[in-house]
Amino acid sequence: MNIKNYINGEFVNPIENNWMPNYNPSNGKVSGQIPNSTKEDVEKAYEAAEKAFLKWSNTTLEERSKILSNIATLILERLDLLAVAESKDNGKPVSLAKEVDIPRAASNFQFFANAITQFSSEAHESIGLNAVNFTLRQPIGVVGCISPWNLPLYLFTWKIAPAIAAGNCVVAKPSEITPMTAFLLGEILQEAGLPKGVLNIVHGLGTTAGNAIVAHPNIKAISFTGGTKTGAHIAGIAAPMFKKLSLELGGKNPNIIFADCDYNKMLATTVRSSFANQGQICLCGSRILVEEKIYEKFKKDFIEKVAQLKVGNPSDETTNIGALVSMAHLEKVKGYIDSASKDGAKVLFGGNKVLVTGSENGYYLQPTIIEVTDNKCSLNQEEVFGPVVTIMSFKTDAEALQLANDVKYGLSATVWTHDLNRSMQFSKQLQTGIVWVNTWMLRDLRTPFGGQKDSGVGREGGLEALRFFTVPKNVCIQYG
Ligand code: NAD
Repeated sequence: MNIKNYINGEFVNPIENNWMPNYNPSNGKVSGQIPNSTKEDVEKAYEAAEKAFLKWSNTTLEERSKILSNIATLILERLDLLAVAESKDNGKPVSLAKEVDIPRAASNFQFFANAITQFSSEAHESIGLNAVNFTLRQPIGVVGCISPWNLPLYLFTWKIAPAIAAGNCVVAKPSEITPMTAFLLGEILQEAGLPKGVLNIVHGLGTTAGNAIVAHPNIKAISFTGGTKTGAHIAGIAAPMFKKLSLELGGKNPNIIFADCDYNKMLATTVRSSFANQGQICLCGSRILVEEKIYEKFKKDFIEKVAQLKVGNPSDETTNIGALVSMAHLEKVKGYIDSASKDGAKVLFGGNKVLVTGSENGYYLQPTIIEVTDNKCSLNQEEVFGPVVTIMSFKTDAEALQLANDVKYGLSATVWTHDLNRSMQFSKQLQTGIVWVNTWMLRDLRTPFGGQKDSGVGREGGLEALRFFTVPKNVCIQYG
């Protein structure tokens, strides 16, 4: 199926009529064509957004909330269709898209439909000066939202929903590797009654369409999720233009396991936090650090559990691990595994491509466990973003903390322990934006979401997102 841009409430071809192939990772076949949009397409999208802004920013909160709610309902009504489309584009199991990606996209709209009705701002009475200050939180204008391929509709809507709830108009670009569900969202927006121009979706490459959004002089804020290198490039363009920036970037998250934890819960969760979505979640715990006392037992049990995971066609109900997102990504991940031994690492399980009968040209890889001894090795320092985890042991709390923090990234960390003091000490000292204790990826959409260090700046989620997408303006009134 051919995908089109969604500009000013209509589906349109790219102005230069340039297209590029979209691949289905489960079988390596071309599934359709997507627009290879240019600066001119972005300009059209901007003009539509600009034109819609005055009216949308003055639309009552009740009306905005009702439309966002409609979008959420319509997403859930199309759950099966969207889940199959997501799986076809990304390679993830259909079952995962049905359970996680698509329901979460609906929740993103429903959450901000509710949140905007509760959003308030501060007032400061200057006692003794006969003055009162209050803060107006006004929408920014036209904002840009750029999202990656790993959780396509989930992350696309995580940005768009708060942006429009707060009264902005949007020029958005999903990843060119997984454009399908963002395209299908267009019809939902029409049906839900979102006025034309409020949300415009431009498809194309990051270096052209994406770059044009970031460099546009009148797009005043950029909310970006993707790789750290891309984030740095975007910051380089946007910062001198004084744009508001939210950058959600890569991770190399530690999963720290102490002997006193609930072992069975930890083991089951660790399998998930290592390999869910083929390990292609920015929050996956790709560095497993295990207390020496239980290291050998964990190693044996973990390998046994991982060996039970079925790699297969994403549409097969029994599949646990689908295809990686692209041939290029498969080769990159495989390259890390192949060079592991150079760093003195040892592949304990997996490491090979998988030939799936009936889908021989798909991009399949075994879940892979690699034992490392040096935290400085590239497998422990660089984001692999695939079904690959490393394991290593530690002796003391201090050593575990030092290993956990000894990376340039700082997105999330998981700690498994029943010691209250230890869990509090680690929560305070881990250099990450998110800490999970005795759980993983338990998400409450009200909480701040984002990273430290090279994992980004800014926070999404709850009121943080509404604050990002508004400009605070203080008004001071002195009375007689
Ligand atoms: P990417 O940086 O290659 O691309 C992300 C998006 O940016 C795509 O839409 C792409 O077209 C666009 N883009 C690329 N170059 C651009 C440029 N010069 N200007 C403007 N836009 C540009 O990332 P990816 O490979 O799609 O996604 C994987 C990365 O995303 C991983 O590093 C992962 O950790 C990260 N990620 C982070 C989070 C988080 O919340 N921190 C969540 C999911 C994924």
